[in-house]
Amino acid sequence: MTEPSAAAAGSPGEKATTDDGFIVFDQISKRFGKNVVLDDLSFSVGSGERVTLIGPSGSGKTTILRMLMTLTKPDSGTIRVGEDYLYHEERNGELVKAGEQHVRKVRGRITMVFQQYNLFPNMRVLRNVTEAPVHVLGRSQDEAEERAKELLDMVGLGDKLRAYPSQLSGGQQQRVAIARALAMDPDILLLDEVTSALDPELAAEVLDVLRDIAKSSDITMLCVTHAMKFARDVSHRVLMFDQGKIIEAAPPAEIFDDPKQERTRTFLESVL
Ligand code: ADP
Repeated sequence: MTEPSAAAAGSPGEKATTDDGFIVFDQISKRFGKNVVLDDLSFSVGSGERVTLIGPSGSGKTTILRMLMTLTKPDSGTIRVGEDYLYHEERNGELVKAGEQHVRKVRGRITMVFQQYNLFPNMRVLRNVTEAPVHVLGRSQDEAEERAKELLDMVGLGDKLRAYPSQLSGGQQQRVAIARALAMDPDILLLDEVTSALDPELAAEVLDVLRDIAKSSDITMLCVTHAMKFARDVSHRVLMFDQGKIIEAAPPAEIFDDPKQERTRTFLESVL
């Protein structure tokens, strides 16, 4: 699992990423009742790598992200981030959730942006972004505000600091949610269909912001999306899911222009 993934994304000069096994899923299985959602799945992601998960609805993509957030527990297998285990399969086949300090350490490095932005409705934009850095990371109010203003400028909302979420468009709210996620200084950003609830024009604003973030930072990104042009532009690697397995993994140019699997081809025809 140490293949280099070609720097398919971005400008020709962009540095290649190597799969150094920063995030590792090893033989992960998950079922809900009789529904096998992930079927003995193994893959890894390098630090700084941007990976997009595509595939039909119900193929297990969101479950992967939720496992990294420890919102969903696998039935078996091992998940590791950096040096720390989130879930660990013992030799006797028993799955254990890793010790609290490991989980807390990993959780401190990852943030997720959801389809529904879930801003605090009673707080102004600036406070939405400073709340967690102050209360979770223990930052001073001044320091948190300074960083929040930078981030809100970056997502094009420097003039909305005192607005309430209800006064913003869906696209603007989602951009606040992105600023809020980045305010936690994560190493890993998980994006779960962040534009699916938005009209195309508002979705485009959000994707532009994410494109800029991807290109200007070395954050590791795992992204579930149906926005295929975005996936092509920002990903180093695309994983095609079907029925709880990865059936094809390749740089975007290859997946989109020359898929090897018939299933990938028919899926892409249905969404492009
Ligand atoms: P995708 O992101 O590829 O659309 P998901 O990972 O969201 O797929 O879901 C995979 C399957 O798991 C779906 O069939 C979904 O209904 C099922 N599923 C997800 N969460 C739960 C849950 N909490 N209880 C029961 N079934 C679930």
